[in-house]
Amino acid sequence: MITNDTIVALSTPPGTGAIGVIRLSGKDAIAITNAVFSGKDLLKQDSHTIHFGLIKDGEIIIDEVLVSLFVAPKSYTKENVVEISCHGSNYIIQQIINLLIRKGASAARPGEFTLRAFLNGGLDLSQAEAVADLISSDSAAAHNVAMNQLRGGFSTELNVLREQLIHFASMIELELDFAEEDVEFANRDQLQELIGKITLVLNKLIRSFELGNVIKQGINTVIAGRPNAGKSTLLNALLNEDRAIVSEIAGTTRDTIEEVLNINGINFRLIDTAGIREATDTIEAIGVEKTMQKINQSALLVYLFDVVNLSASEIEEDILRLHKPGLAFLAVANKMDLSFSDRLKELKLPAGIQFISISAKQNQHIEELKQLLYDAAVGDKLSNNHTMVTNIRHVEALEKTRAALSDVAEGLNNPVTSDFLAMDIKQALYYLGLITGVVSTDDLLENIFNKFCIGK
Ligand code: GDP
Repeated sequence: MITNDTIVALSTPPGTGAIGVIRLSGKDAIAITNAVFSGKDLLKQDSHTIHFGLIKDGEIIIDEVLVSLFVAPKSYTKENVVEISCHGSNYIIQQIINLLIRKGASAARPGEFTLRAFLNGGLDLSQAEAVADLISSDSAAAHNVAMNQLRGGFSTELNVLREQLIHFASMIELELDFAEEDVEFANRDQLQELIGKITLVLNKLIRSFELGNVIKQGINTVIAGRPNAGKSTLLNALLNEDRAIVSEIAGTTRDTIEEVLNINGINFRLIDTAGIREATDTIEAIGVEKTMQKINQSALLVYLFDVVNLSASEIEEDILRLHKPGLAFLAVANKMDLSFSDRLKELKLPAGIQFISISAKQNQHIEELKQLLYDAAVGDKLSNNHTMVTNIRHVEALEKTRAALSDVAEGLNNPVTSDFLAMDIKQALYYLGLITGVVSTDDLLENIFNKFCIGK
Protein backbone atom coordinates (compact mmCIF):
# COMPACT_ATOMS: atom_id res chain seq x y z
CA MET A 1 0.00 0.00 0.00
CA ILE A 2 2.86 2.39 0.73
CA THR A 3 5.61 2.94 -1.81
CA ASN A 4 9.10 4.31 -1.53
CA ASP A 5 8.17 7.16 -3.83
CA THR A 6 8.56 10.74 -2.88
CA ILE A 7 5.11 12.26 -3.22
CA VAL A 8 4.09 15.80 -4.06
CA ALA A 9 0.82 17.73 -3.94
CA LEU A 10 -0.62 21.17 -3.39
CA SER A 11 -1.65 21.35 0.28
CA THR A 12 -3.54 24.63 0.18
CA PRO A 13 -6.92 24.90 -1.61
CA PRO A 14 -6.73 25.10 -5.40
CA GLY A 15 -7.43 28.53 -6.85
CA THR A 16 -5.74 31.90 -6.68
CA GLY A 17 -4.45 33.07 -3.31
CA ALA A 18 -1.65 35.12 -1.80
CA ILE A 19 0.43 32.01 -1.38
CA GLY A 20 0.17 28.33 -2.19
CA VAL A 21 1.97 25.58 -0.29
CA ILE A 22 3.31 22.60 -2.20
CA ARG A 23 4.33 19.68 0.00
CA LEU A 24 6.71 16.81 -0.70
CA SER A 25 7.29 13.75 1.45
CA GLY A 26 9.71 10.85 1.01
CA LYS A 27 13.34 9.87 1.07
CA ASP A 28 14.25 12.16 -1.85
CA ALA A 29 12.05 15.13 -0.96
CA ILE A 30 15.00 17.39 -0.15
CA ALA A 31 17.19 16.17 -3.03
CA ILE A 32 14.40 16.64 -5.60
CA THR A 33 13.66 20.15 -4.34
CA ASN A 34 17.36 20.94 -4.30
CA ALA A 35 17.59 20.02 -7.98
CA VAL A 36 15.27 22.89 -8.96
CA PHE A 37 16.14 25.38 -6.20
CA SER A 38 18.78 28.04 -6.46
CA GLY A 39 19.91 29.98 -3.43
CA LYS A 40 21.76 27.46 -1.35
CA ASP A 41 22.41 23.76 -1.05
CA LEU A 42 19.33 22.44 0.77
CA LEU A 43 21.01 19.11 1.46
CA LYS A 44 23.39 20.86 3.82
CA GLN A 45 20.73 22.65 5.87
CA ASP A 46 19.33 21.72 9.27
CA SER A 47 15.85 20.41 9.95
CA HIS A 48 13.15 22.98 10.77
CA THR A 49 14.77 25.82 8.82
CA ILE A 50 13.34 28.10 6.13
CA HIS A 51 15.20 29.23 3.00
CA PHE A 52 14.56 31.91 0.44
CA GLY A 53 15.45 31.25 -3.19
CA LEU A 54 14.28 30.66 -6.75
CA ILE A 55 12.60 27.70 -8.37
CA LYS A 56 14.09 27.39 -11.86
CA ASP A 57 13.30 25.15 -14.79
CA GLY A 58 16.68 25.23 -16.48
CA GLU A 59 17.32 28.91 -17.03
CA ILE A 60 13.66 29.92 -16.68
CA ILE A 61 12.72 31.40 -13.30
CA ILE A 62 9.32 30.08 -12.23
CA ASP A 63 8.97 31.84 -8.87
CA GLU A 64 10.62 33.25 -5.78
CA VAL A 65 9.79 30.92 -2.92
CA LEU A 66 10.35 30.00 0.70
CA VAL A 67 11.33 26.40 1.36
CA SER A 68 10.74 24.81 4.80
CA LEU A 69 12.71 21.68 5.62
CA PHE A 70 11.68 18.88 7.97
CA VAL A 71 14.27 16.14 8.12
CA ALA A 72 13.11 12.58 8.94
CA PRO A 73 11.93 11.52 11.40
CA LYS A 74 11.00 14.97 12.76
CA SER A 75 8.05 15.58 10.42
CA TYR A 76 4.32 14.93 10.08
CA THR A 77 4.91 11.81 7.95
CA LYS A 78 8.16 10.84 9.75
CA GLU A 79 9.81 11.05 6.31
CA ASN A 80 11.79 13.94 4.83
CA VAL A 81 9.23 16.66 4.21
CA VAL A 82 9.62 19.89 2.22
CA GLU A 83 7.05 22.64 2.03
CA ILE A 84 7.44 25.14 -0.76
CA SER A 85 5.54 28.39 -0.25
CA CYS A 86 5.13 29.99 -3.65
CA HIS A 87 2.91 32.72 -5.05
CA GLY A 88 -0.63 31.44 -5.20
CA SER A 89 -1.19 31.39 -8.94
CA ASN A 90 -2.57 28.24 -10.55
CA TYR A 91 -0.04 28.57 -13.32
CA ILE A 92 2.99 28.80 -10.99
CA ILE A 93 1.72 25.94 -8.82
CA GLN A 94 1.17 23.66 -11.80
CA GLN A 95 4.60 24.55 -13.25
CA ILE A 96 6.37 23.77 -9.97
CA ILE A 97 4.48 20.50 -9.41
CA ASN A 98 5.14 19.37 -13.00
CA LEU A 99 8.80 20.24 -12.61
CA LEU A 100 9.09 18.25 -9.35
CA ILE A 101 7.40 15.28 -10.99
CA ARG A 102 9.89 15.50 -13.90
CA LYS A 103 12.67 15.40 -11.32
CA GLY A 104 11.38 12.17 -9.79
CA ALA A 105 8.46 12.93 -7.45
CA SER A 106 5.06 11.32 -8.01
CA ALA A 107 1.64 12.85 -7.53
CA ALA A 108 0.19 12.07 -4.08
CA ARG A 109 -3.07 10.15 -3.80
CA PRO A 110 -5.89 11.40 -1.56
CA GLY A 111 -4.88 11.36 2.10
CA GLU A 112 -1.45 9.89 1.31
CA PHE A 113 0.48 12.25 3.59
CA THR A 114 -1.72 11.29 6.53
CA LEU A 115 -1.63 7.60 5.52
CA ARG A 116 2.17 7.75 5.67
CA ALA A 117 1.99 9.48 9.04
CA PHE A 118 -0.14 6.55 10.25
CA LEU A 119 1.96 3.78 8.67
CA ASN A 120 5.16 5.29 10.03
CA GLY A 121 3.72 5.46 13.52
CA GLY A 122 3.26 9.22 13.77
CA LEU A 123 -0.49 8.95 14.36
CA ASP A 124 -2.80 6.13 15.24
CA LEU A 125 -5.78 5.46 13.03
CA SER A 126 -8.32 7.31 15.12
CA GLN A 127 -6.00 10.32 15.18
CA ALA A 128 -5.61 10.16 11.40
CA GLU A 129 -9.38 10.18 11.10
CA ALA A 130 -9.48 13.15 13.46
CA VAL A 131 -7.33 15.05 10.95
CA ALA A 132 -10.13 14.69 8.41
CA ASP A 133 -12.69 15.79 10.99
CA LEU A 134 -10.56 18.74 12.00
CA ILE A 135 -10.23 19.92 8.42
CA SER A 136 -13.98 19.74 7.91
CA SER A 137 -15.06 21.04 11.32
CA ASP A 138 -17.32 24.04 10.97
CA SER A 139 -18.24 24.85 14.54
CA ALA A 140 -16.30 25.44 17.74
CA ALA A 141 -17.65 22.26 19.32
CA ALA A 142 -16.84 20.06 16.31
CA HIS A 143 -13.36 21.56 16.27
CA ASN A 144 -12.98 20.85 19.97
CA VAL A 145 -13.97 17.20 19.66
CA ALA A 146 -11.72 16.60 16.64
CA MET A 147 -8.79 18.35 18.31
CA ASN A 148 -9.23 16.26 21.46
CA GLN A 149 -9.21 13.07 19.38
CA LEU A 150 -6.17 14.21 17.40
CA ARG A 151 -4.29 14.75 20.63
CA GLY A 152 -4.86 11.16 21.71
CA GLY A 153 -8.42 11.34 22.98
CA PHE A 154 -9.79 7.96 23.89
CA SER A 155 -7.03 5.98 22.13
CA THR A 156 -4.82 6.44 25.16
CA GLU A 157 -7.52 5.15 27.47
CA LEU A 158 -8.26 2.19 25.19
CA ASN A 159 -4.60 1.30 24.77
CA VAL A 160 -4.07 1.02 28.52
CA LEU A 161 -7.02 -1.36 28.83
CA ARG A 162 -5.91 -3.27 25.76
CA GLU A 163 -2.46 -3.80 27.29
CA GLN A 164 -4.03 -5.22 30.44
CA LEU A 165 -6.21 -7.54 28.41
CA ILE A 166 -3.19 -8.68 26.38
CA HIS A 167 -1.54 -9.61 29.65
CA PHE A 168 -4.42 -11.95 30.49
CA ALA A 169 -4.51 -13.32 26.98
CA SER A 170 -0.86 -14.30 27.23
CA MET A 171 -1.39 -15.89 30.66
CA ILE A 172 -4.20 -17.98 29.28
CA GLU A 173 -2.12 -18.92 26.24
CA LEU A 174 0.49 -20.11 28.70
CA GLU A 175 -2.10 -22.30 30.42
CA LEU A 176 -2.73 -23.93 27.05
CA ASP A 177 0.95 -24.90 26.91
CA PHE A 178 0.63 -26.58 30.28
CA ALA A 179 -2.78 -28.13 29.55
CA GLU A 180 -1.81 -31.52 31.01
CA GLU A 181 -0.99 -30.07 34.39
CA ASP A 182 -4.27 -28.21 34.97
CA VAL A 183 -2.74 -24.97 36.27
CA GLU A 184 -4.24 -21.48 36.22
CA PHE A 185 -1.86 -18.61 35.54
CA ALA A 186 -4.57 -16.10 34.85
CA ASN A 187 -6.42 -15.10 37.98
CA ARG A 188 -10.09 -15.48 37.02
CA ASP A 189 -11.35 -12.96 39.56
CA GLN A 190 -8.96 -10.29 38.34
CA LEU A 191 -9.92 -11.01 34.75
CA GLN A 192 -13.59 -10.69 35.65
CA GLU A 193 -12.82 -7.39 37.33
CA LEU A 194 -10.89 -6.10 34.33
CA ILE A 195 -13.75 -7.02 32.01
CA GLY A 196 -16.12 -5.09 34.23
CA LYS A 197 -13.83 -2.07 34.09
CA ILE A 198 -13.40 -2.20 30.32
CA THR A 199 -17.14 -2.64 29.81
CA LEU A 200 -17.81 0.52 31.83
CA VAL A 201 -15.41 2.50 29.63
CA LEU A 202 -16.95 0.99 26.49
CA ASN A 203 -20.45 1.90 27.66
CA LYS A 204 -19.38 5.46 28.32
CA LEU A 205 -17.75 5.78 24.89
CA ILE A 206 -20.67 4.17 23.07
CA ARG A 207 -23.09 6.53 24.81
CA SER A 208 -20.91 9.52 23.94
CA PHE A 209 -21.33 8.72 20.26
CA GLU A 210 -24.86 10.01 20.20
CA LEU A 211 -23.81 13.45 21.40
CA GLY A 212 -20.45 13.38 19.60
CA ASN A 213 -22.16 12.64 16.35
CA VAL A 214 -24.71 15.42 16.68
CA ILE A 215 -21.94 17.85 17.46
CA LYS A 216 -20.14 16.83 14.31
CA GLN A 217 -23.24 16.86 12.12
CA GLY A 218 -25.30 19.52 13.86
CA ILE A 219 -28.48 18.98 15.86
CA ASN A 220 -31.52 18.36 13.71
CA THR A 221 -34.17 20.65 15.08
CA VAL A 222 -37.75 20.78 13.91
CA ILE A 223 -40.02 23.75 14.50
CA ALA A 224 -43.55 22.38 14.29
CA GLY A 225 -46.88 24.04 14.90
CA ARG A 226 -50.26 24.68 13.34
CA PRO A 227 -50.51 27.03 10.37
CA ASN A 228 -50.12 30.68 11.44
CA ALA A 229 -48.49 29.79 14.76
CA GLY A 230 -45.61 31.98 13.58
CA LYS A 231 -43.08 29.33 12.54
CA SER A 232 -41.65 31.30 9.61
CA THR A 233 -41.54 34.46 11.70
CA LEU A 234 -39.67 32.61 14.44
CA LEU A 235 -37.23 31.15 11.95
CA ASN A 236 -36.48 34.63 10.68
CA ALA A 237 -36.11 35.97 14.20
CA LEU A 238 -33.67 33.20 15.09
CA LEU A 239 -31.65 33.70 11.95
CA ASN A 240 -32.12 37.45 11.87
CA GLU A 241 -32.88 37.33 8.18
CA ASP A 242 -35.83 37.08 5.83
CA ARG A 243 -35.24 33.53 4.66
CA ALA A 244 -38.70 32.00 4.99
CA ILE A 245 -41.72 33.65 3.47
CA VAL A 246 -44.08 34.99 6.09
CA SER A 247 -47.68 35.09 5.06
CA GLU A 248 -51.11 35.78 6.52
CA ILE A 249 -52.71 32.83 4.72
CA ALA A 250 -52.75 29.61 6.70
CA GLY A 251 -50.49 26.93 5.32
CA THR A 252 -48.16 28.85 3.04
CA THR A 253 -44.95 27.21 4.21
CA ARG A 254 -45.34 24.51 1.62
CA ASP A 255 -41.91 23.05 1.61
CA THR A 256 -39.44 22.61 4.40
CA ILE A 257 -36.61 25.08 4.70
CA GLU A 258 -33.33 24.18 6.35
CA GLU A 259 -31.02 26.71 7.97
CA VAL A 260 -28.10 26.42 10.33
CA LEU A 261 -28.09 28.37 13.58
CA ASN A 262 -25.01 28.39 15.80
CA ILE A 263 -25.71 28.55 19.52
CA ASN A 264 -22.72 28.52 21.91
CA GLY A 265 -20.58 26.82 19.28
CA ILE A 266 -23.06 24.07 18.42
CA ASN A 267 -24.77 23.93 15.02
CA PHE A 268 -28.54 23.52 15.09
CA ARG A 269 -30.05 22.52 11.75
CA LEU A 270 -33.39 24.26 11.85
CA ILE A 271 -36.18 22.85 9.82
CA ASP A 272 -39.24 25.00 9.40
CA THR A 273 -42.20 22.84 8.55
CA ALA A 274 -45.70 23.00 7.22
CA GLY A 275 -48.58 23.05 9.71
CA ILE A 276 -49.23 19.90 11.66
CA ARG A 277 -53.05 19.91 11.35
CA GLU A 278 -54.69 17.42 9.00
CA ALA A 279 -54.66 19.10 5.62
CA THR A 280 -57.27 18.81 2.93
CA ASP A 281 -55.48 20.09 -0.13
CA THR A 282 -52.84 17.75 -1.50
CA ILE A 283 -49.83 20.09 -1.64
CA GLU A 284 -50.32 20.91 2.01
CA ALA A 285 -50.77 17.22 2.82
CA ILE A 286 -47.34 16.46 1.38
CA GLY A 287 -45.96 19.13 3.66
CA VAL A 288 -47.64 17.56 6.68
CA GLU A 289 -46.31 14.12 5.84
CA LYS A 290 -42.84 15.62 5.49
CA THR A 291 -43.20 17.26 8.89
CA MET A 292 -43.86 13.91 10.52
CA GLN A 293 -40.88 12.38 8.68
CA LYS A 294 -38.65 15.25 9.76
CA ILE A 295 -39.80 14.95 13.36
CA ASN A 296 -38.84 11.28 13.30
CA GLN A 297 -35.33 12.18 12.13
CA SER A 298 -34.80 15.02 14.54
CA ALA A 299 -33.13 15.26 17.94
CA LEU A 300 -34.96 18.33 19.15
CA LEU A 301 -38.53 19.40 18.60
CA VAL A 302 -39.79 22.93 19.15
CA TYR A 303 -43.57 22.99 19.35
CA LEU A 304 -44.71 26.53 18.61
CA PHE A 305 -48.29 27.56 19.33
CA ASP A 306 -50.38 30.68 18.94
CA VAL A 307 -51.29 31.52 22.50
CA VAL A 308 -54.16 33.79 21.39
CA ASN A 309 -56.02 31.62 18.90
CA LEU A 310 -55.58 28.14 20.30
CA SER A 311 -57.48 26.64 23.23
CA ALA A 312 -55.70 24.94 26.09
CA SER A 313 -57.09 21.57 25.06
CA GLU A 314 -55.91 22.01 21.47
CA ILE A 315 -52.41 22.79 22.73
CA GLU A 316 -52.39 19.80 25.05
CA GLU A 317 -53.64 17.56 22.25
CA ASP A 318 -50.80 18.74 19.94
CA ILE A 319 -48.20 18.14 22.61
CA LEU A 320 -49.46 14.62 23.27
CA ARG A 321 -49.23 13.87 19.56
CA LEU A 322 -45.75 15.29 19.09
CA HIS A 323 -43.91 14.47 22.29
CA LYS A 324 -41.99 11.22 21.92
CA PRO A 325 -39.64 9.55 24.37
CA GLY A 326 -36.00 10.18 23.54
CA LEU A 327 -36.75 13.41 21.70
CA ALA A 328 -35.73 16.66 23.39
CA PHE A 329 -38.89 18.79 23.47
CA LEU A 330 -39.60 22.43 24.01
CA ALA A 331 -43.06 24.04 24.13
CA VAL A 332 -43.03 27.66 22.96
CA ALA A 333 -46.02 30.02 23.32
CA ASN A 334 -45.90 32.66 20.59
CA LYS A 335 -47.55 36.06 20.23
CA MET A 336 -47.14 36.95 23.91
CA ASP A 337 -47.34 40.59 22.76
CA LEU A 338 -51.06 40.06 22.02
CA SER A 339 -52.07 37.81 24.85
CA PHE A 340 -53.83 39.25 27.84
CA SER A 341 -55.64 36.04 28.66
CA ASP A 342 -54.98 33.52 31.36
CA ARG A 343 -54.68 30.78 28.79
CA LEU A 344 -51.19 29.84 29.92
CA LYS A 345 -52.39 29.31 33.47
CA GLU A 346 -55.07 26.86 32.26
CA LEU A 347 -52.50 24.75 30.43
CA LYS A 348 -51.67 21.42 31.97
CA LEU A 349 -48.33 20.45 30.45
CA PRO A 350 -47.03 16.92 30.97
CA ALA A 351 -44.30 16.73 33.62
CA GLY A 352 -40.78 17.55 32.51
CA ILE A 353 -41.75 19.65 29.50
CA GLN A 354 -39.78 22.87 29.21
CA PHE A 355 -41.84 25.91 28.42
CA ILE A 356 -41.25 29.52 27.38
CA SER A 357 -43.37 32.36 25.97
CA ILE A 358 -42.03 34.61 23.25
CA SER A 359 -43.02 37.06 20.58
CA ALA A 360 -41.40 36.07 17.31
CA LYS A 361 -42.62 39.23 15.63
CA GLN A 362 -41.45 41.64 18.35
CA ASN A 363 -38.24 39.72 19.00
CA GLN A 364 -39.08 39.12 22.64
CA HIS A 365 -37.32 36.34 24.57
CA ILE A 366 -35.52 35.07 21.44
CA GLU A 367 -32.13 34.96 23.20
CA GLU A 368 -33.68 33.11 26.15
CA LEU A 369 -35.21 30.66 23.68
CA LYS A 370 -31.78 30.04 22.12
CA GLN A 371 -30.32 29.24 25.52
CA LEU A 372 -33.19 26.82 26.21
CA LEU A 373 -32.60 25.12 22.85
CA TYR A 374 -28.99 24.62 23.83
CA ASP A 375 -29.88 23.36 27.30
CA ALA A 376 -32.48 20.94 25.93
CA ALA A 377 -30.17 19.41 23.32
CA VAL A 378 -26.75 19.61 24.93
CA GLY A 379 -27.18 20.61 28.56
CA ASP A 380 -24.14 19.95 30.70
CA LYS A 381 -23.21 16.80 28.76
CA LEU A 382 -20.34 18.59 27.08
CA SER A 383 -18.61 20.00 30.11
CA ASN A 384 -17.87 16.75 31.92
CA ASN A 385 -17.34 14.54 28.92
CA HIS A 386 -14.22 15.46 27.00
CA THR A 387 -13.80 12.07 25.46
CA MET A 388 -16.23 11.65 22.69
CA VAL A 389 -16.69 9.16 19.89
CA THR A 390 -17.86 10.78 16.65
CA ASN A 391 -17.02 8.09 14.17
CA ILE A 392 -19.46 5.32 13.21
CA ARG A 393 -16.54 2.95 12.49
CA HIS A 394 -15.31 3.39 16.05
CA VAL A 395 -18.68 2.89 17.68
CA GLU A 396 -19.20 -0.32 15.69
CA ALA A 397 -15.84 -1.66 16.83
CA LEU A 398 -16.63 -0.66 20.42
CA GLU A 399 -19.94 -2.51 20.29
CA LYS A 400 -18.28 -5.63 18.90
CA THR A 401 -15.61 -5.46 21.60
CA ARG A 402 -18.32 -5.23 24.23
CA ALA A 403 -20.10 -8.28 22.79
CA ALA A 404 -16.87 -10.31 22.73
CA LEU A 405 -16.10 -9.33 26.33
CA SER A 406 -19.55 -10.35 27.43
CA ASP A 407 -18.77 -13.79 25.93
CA VAL A 408 -15.57 -13.88 27.98
CA ALA A 409 -17.51 -12.96 31.12
CA GLU A 410 -20.05 -15.68 30.41
CA GLY A 411 -17.24 -18.17 29.88
CA LEU A 412 -15.89 -17.25 33.30
CA ASN A 413 -19.26 -17.64 35.00
CA ASN A 414 -19.98 -21.04 33.46
CA PRO A 415 -16.41 -22.21 33.35
CA VAL A 416 -15.28 -23.10 29.86
CA THR A 417 -11.86 -24.40 28.94
CA SER A 418 -8.95 -22.00 28.57
CA ASP A 419 -8.88 -22.32 24.79
CA PHE A 420 -12.43 -20.98 24.47
CA LEU A 421 -11.60 -18.13 26.83
CA ALA A 422 -8.50 -17.33 24.82
CA MET A 423 -10.54 -17.22 21.62
CA ASP A 424 -13.06 -14.72 22.99
CA ILE A 425 -10.36 -12.50 24.45
CA LYS A 426 -8.55 -12.50 21.11
CA GLN A 427 -11.76 -11.48 19.43
CA ALA A 428 -12.16 -8.55 21.84
CA LEU A 429 -8.52 -7.52 21.32
CA TYR A 430 -9.02 -7.64 17.58
CA TYR A 431 -11.97 -5.23 17.63
CA LEU A 432 -10.26 -2.88 20.09
CA GLY A 433 -7.20 -2.84 17.85
CA LEU A 434 -9.29 -1.89 14.82
CA ILE A 435 -10.04 1.48 16.39
CA THR A 436 -6.49 2.69 16.84
CA GLY A 437 -5.19 0.71 13.88
CA VAL A 438 -3.01 -1.72 15.84
CA VAL A 439 -4.96 -4.17 13.73
CA SER A 440 -5.72 -2.96 10.22
CA THR A 441 -6.40 -4.29 6.77
CA ASP A 442 -5.62 -2.71 3.41
CA ASP A 443 -9.34 -2.45 2.66
CA LEU A 444 -9.97 -0.54 5.86
CA LEU A 445 -7.11 1.89 5.23
CA GLU A 446 -8.14 2.34 1.60
CA ASN A 447 -11.64 3.16 2.75
CA ILE A 448 -10.56 5.71 5.34
CA PHE A 449 -7.90 7.55 3.39
CA ASN A 450 -9.83 7.74 0.13
CA LYS A 451 -12.18 10.16 1.85
CA PHE A 452 -9.36 12.66 2.33
CA CYS A 453 -8.53 15.26 -0.29
CA ILE A 454 -5.28 15.15 -2.18
CA GLY A 455 -2.57 17.04 -0.32
CA LYS A 456 -3.77 16.06 3.18
P1 GDP B 1 -46.51 29.97 10.11
O1 GDP B 1 -47.66 29.58 9.25
O2 GDP B 1 -46.51 29.17 11.37
O3 GDP B 1 -45.20 29.93 9.41
O4 GDP B 1 -46.78 31.46 10.59
P2 GDP B 1 -46.15 32.85 10.07
O5 GDP B 1 -44.78 33.03 10.57
O6 GDP B 1 -46.38 32.94 8.60
O7 GDP B 1 -47.04 33.88 10.87
C1 GDP B 1 -48.44 33.96 10.73
C2 GDP B 1 -48.92 35.32 11.11
O8 GDP B 1 -48.72 35.55 12.51
C3 GDP B 1 -48.18 36.46 10.39
O9 GDP B 1 -49.12 37.45 10.08
C4 GDP B 1 -47.19 36.93 11.43
O10 GDP B 1 -46.86 38.30 11.24
C5 GDP B 1 -47.97 36.74 12.70
N1 GDP B 1 -47.09 36.57 13.87
C6 GDP B 1 -46.06 35.70 14.01
N2 GDP B 1 -45.48 35.83 15.21
C7 GDP B 1 -46.14 36.81 15.87
C8 GDP B 1 -46.00 37.42 17.17
O11 GDP B 1 -45.13 37.09 17.97
N3 GDP B 1 -46.90 38.39 17.49
C9 GDP B 1 -47.87 38.79 16.62
N4 GDP B 1 -48.65 39.74 17.01
N5 GDP B 1 -48.01 38.26 15.41
C10 GDP B 1 -47.16 37.28 15.01
